[in-house]
Amino acid sequence: MIPVTGFEGARIGVLGLGRSGLSTARALRAGGAEPVCWDDNPDARAKAEAEGFACADLGKAGAIEGIARLIVSPGIPHLYPRPNPVIAEAYRHGVPVDNDIGLFFRSLAGAGWAEFDVPPKVIAVTGSNGKSTTSALIHHILEEAGRESQLAGNIGRGVLDIDPPGDGGVVVLELSSYQTDLARALTPDVAVFTNFSPDHLDRHGGIGGYFAAKRRLFAEGGPDRAVIGVDEAEGLYMADQLGEGPGDDRVIRVSVTQKPVGAGWQVAARKGFLTEWRKGKQVASIDLRQVAGLPGAHNHQNACAAYAAVRTLGIAPRVAEQAFHSFAGLPHRSQTIAEHNGIRFVNDSKATNVDSAAKALAAFDRIRWICGGLEKEGGLDLVVEAAGSVLKAYVIGREAAAFAVHLRGIEAEVCTDMATAVARAVAEAEPGDTVLLAPAAASFDQYDSFERRGEDFVARVRAALA
Ligand code: ADP
Repeated sequence: MIPVTGFEGARIGVLGLGRSGLSTARALRAGGAEPVCWDDNPDARAKAEAEGFACADLGKAGAIEGIARLIVSPGIPHLYPRPNPVIAEAYRHGVPVDNDIGLFFRSLAGAGWAEFDVPPKVIAVTGSNGKSTTSALIHHILEEAGRESQLAGNIGRGVLDIDPPGDGGVVVLELSSYQTDLARALTPDVAVFTNFSPDHLDRHGGIGGYFAAKRRLFAEGGPDRAVIGVDEAEGLYMADQLGEGPGDDRVIRVSVTQKPVGAGWQVAARKGFLTEWRKGKQVASIDLRQVAGLPGAHNHQNACAAYAAVRTLGIAPRVAEQAFHSFAGLPHRSQTIAEHNGIRFVNDSKATNVDSAAKALAAFDRIRWICGGLEKEGGLDLVVEAAGSVLKAYVIGREAAAFAVHLRGIEAEVCTDMATAVARAVAEAEPGDTVLLAPAAASFDQYDSFERRGEDFVARVRAALA
């Protein structure tokens, strides 16, 4: 655990008592603060009370007075569509609102750091898609290289839950836009921006707010190195803003669509080959085509970003290459779960938005596409444009019929539930086909989470093939 420093004896509000909320309360207590916890859910409060934490309804009139800081969980809206009432009350009373990420950055460097030969480093990863894969891959490469590494944030453990890093240790953080939007300290050594496409627009008041939230990691933190995906205008703009000229190697540009130009530090992947360029020269090349855990151009983008991040720590290209081959991939992300009679079954339940689903569709041929669920703002046009390899769509979700109507030009069957969709796809699939779950929608109309949806898919496929 990283005890939170700087609030000894102060009453600190903790709003939201899920995984990160509880670990925040523990870290505050360990640092000598007095957490005052609240969650609208009585079960969550009971868990906190069982650990001896005081719970009080911070939304009650006057309750926020005397609270030195309010720490909120990422799931609780702090601005859009409208601030949670407790947060609004904090704003009114001038109580600083922060989150566990902000506390982490202000508390990380411990007293013993002056003794270290190599001070610990933090690599923080944000972007619209590929954050988890890239973070997990960085962590994996570091471990394979024999470096101490811990994975935390939106993936793995809560940030304040990790062990204090040792000499030369690395902390790899995956940070969502909700987390970067609110943190009052954001000071990673290396910051990574994977890519940009619309998502979570309701929580950010539109695309400008969403980009502004992500950008804070670079604007506030002033990282020593910034690894930036430059295949969209937002990444290009940010790389330009951060660099002091074409040769400034504080910025490492990552692209899977453009050939590197100029003298800067760049990592690119085209036609399945990753290349690293510095001062106008190619310094390394890695064949990604046989890397089973990272299929498709979108995963090659993740490989480039992870590679660039570990190169800033001096990891050799050859070590990164070996680690790519031993990377198993993450569940629910372009994960091949079965091969049967020449038919491949791929679980990409994490494709909850249009861009990630489009990337999954681009990674395979002859696709029998299971899609649908809770549609996000912005429509399905982008994914429909990327559906050239789709033989047929099998649509799930409570509003499956309406979803199917939006898949203009694609043969679509309204299946509504996963069992029917899998059964129909299996019945019609031929050798060489890929049955792909890539919903392009959230899962909450039928499942608790994208994980449950993916597990259901896997179970139905296993049953169908038994
Ligand atoms: P995040 O943590 O940003 O949600 P994940 O690694 O969990 O990222 O991947 C989320 C979804 O996006 C999955 O469907 C995955 O297959 C897809 N994906 C992964 N990497 C990329 C990428 N670089 N660009 C677009 N989509 C991606």
